[in-house]
Amino acid sequence: MTATAVAPALAGLMMDRSLQISRLIDHAALWHGDIEIVTQRTGAPDERSTYREVRARSAQLAHALAERLHVAAGERVATFAWNTQRHLELYYGVSGSGAVLHTVNPRLFAPQIVYIINHARDRFVFLDADLVPVLEPLAAQLPAVEGYVVLCGEAEMPATSLPNAVAYESLIAGLPGEIEWPELDERTASSLCYTSGTTGNPKGVLYSHRSTILHTFAQAASWQAGPGSQAAILPVVPLFHANAWGLPYLAPMQGSKLVFADPHLDPAELYGALEREQVTLTCGVPTIWLRLLDYLERNDLRFSSLKLLGVGGSAPPRALIEAFEVKYGVTVLNAWGMTETSPACTYGTPRPAHDVLPQRIDYKTRAGRALFGVEIRIVDDDGASLPFDGVAQGEIHVRGPWIAAGYFEDDEATARGVTADGWLRTGDIASIDTHGYVQIRDRSKDVIKSGGEWISSIELENVAVAHPAVAEAAAIGIPHPTWSERPVLYVVAAQGHELDAASVIAFLDGKVAKWWIPDEVIVVAELPHTATGKISKRTLRERYAPAAT
Ligand code: ADP
Repeated sequence: MTATAVAPALAGLMMDRSLQISRLIDHAALWHGDIEIVTQRTGAPDERSTYREVRARSAQLAHALAERLHVAAGERVATFAWNTQRHLELYYGVSGSGAVLHTVNPRLFAPQIVYIINHARDRFVFLDADLVPVLEPLAAQLPAVEGYVVLCGEAEMPATSLPNAVAYESLIAGLPGEIEWPELDERTASSLCYTSGTTGNPKGVLYSHRSTILHTFAQAASWQAGPGSQAAILPVVPLFHANAWGLPYLAPMQGSKLVFADPHLDPAELYGALEREQVTLTCGVPTIWLRLLDYLERNDLRFSSLKLLGVGGSAPPRALIEAFEVKYGVTVLNAWGMTETSPACTYGTPRPAHDVLPQRIDYKTRAGRALFGVEIRIVDDDGASLPFDGVAQGEIHVRGPWIAAGYFEDDEATARGVTADGWLRTGDIASIDTHGYVQIRDRSKDVIKSGGEWISSIELENVAVAHPAVAEAAAIGIPHPTWSERPVLYVVAAQGHELDAASVIAFLDGKVAKWWIPDEVIVVAELPHTATGKISKRTLRERYAPAAT
């Protein structure tokens, strides 16, 4: 369905070296061998390693997969793990050997975890020791899993009822740290990640070596002030989420230091981790940065090394971008994409004419412009393309070499998700202006339609969080007899602030259209979040009107 290359009229005379993930770690070990990989765990000393060691241990793992676990090319090996050096070794050892690395999100609900592992037919699961109790009660429902590898040494191995459980260090012990990786067709599947799926079952996105390398090149070419070998990267985004936004591949390509922080960090600890390792680049969802910002403000702190803050997964509020850019001097990169798109599609790097204050902040609230390699169109409900005039809004369709052409063994989802002419339907509603800036207005399932007109939940939330006493906000549409839907806004008070509904409504007045003003503002202590850290609007809708959803 997607356009594949036709036979060349005259073949070019260049080498056909395949694009392979193993070459990234080879490159890093050879040319950036002493650059550090740091794993931090609360209450334990930091573990420090290097690309040279990570390559050697990935090689040992690849030998273990072949010789001890008899995993063949194309078979799936799951990870159920936080961000650590060992998880990075799995990225290279599994994919490098020709098997498929299936990253499973441990924060999902149990039925989804069972569905995903069974659907992928994972032969082995590599899991962190603290997650053993999560999988133990599920193991009986995972008949295809032959064994469990706990990511620890023999001494830390917990007593477990998991069948055929071994310690990772014992599994790889005694095997050579040298390897000649197999030569693979670059279209070979390399990794698998399921999207959480707001309706129906989760859907598997099956990446290839080629898609991964091309995505990494595109990131390297487009990254504002490219991270490079001077950089220290702390991916707050978990390694089980959408290739952790490409960083486990980009860092070795560029020789950047990688810092893996404890997954349970509060803002104070995260700030400490960034400072301790002199991190220059970090990436995560807006919720994390809103909390960090609140902590910085309350304690009057500054960053001594941070230069670039990557934010994506949901729309960052303007107030967040402005505070980091103007007050803290940190460049914000708003990036849009999804699991199906590897994930980078657009980067919010303003063109030079727009990269000056104050309009820079406005431009950065947009999702940015397409990376080379990603084609974008917006279409109306009938599938007709809409103009790039900054006004017309429609669903974004994308295509390109790192965009999913379908879902793993799921024809129904593929038929729904990919158009007959080979474009991926993203479910995001956007306008695109004459300069090519994509502005995400909403997710199709979160759009509020009132009196036949759209209200952008994202814009409502952005305005609300500019209120000094609002830490976080979420707008949902609730059924209404006359208007079909009306907005309701949930807000969380910033620490140390009192908040009432009337002051939020007064604040919105004059900043959004009158008919956008929510019918109700509800102050809550906390908002529900999804397994990937985004606000769960589905939960809010269920809470508001249990019978209606
Ligand atoms: P899910 O959130 O459904 O688990 P993904 O993690 O793949 O799945 O998220 C992709 C979605 O996140 C996009 O389709 C879009 O709705 C939202 N998103 C990602 N980045 C941005 C961004 N920079 N601005 C606004 N929305 C974003």
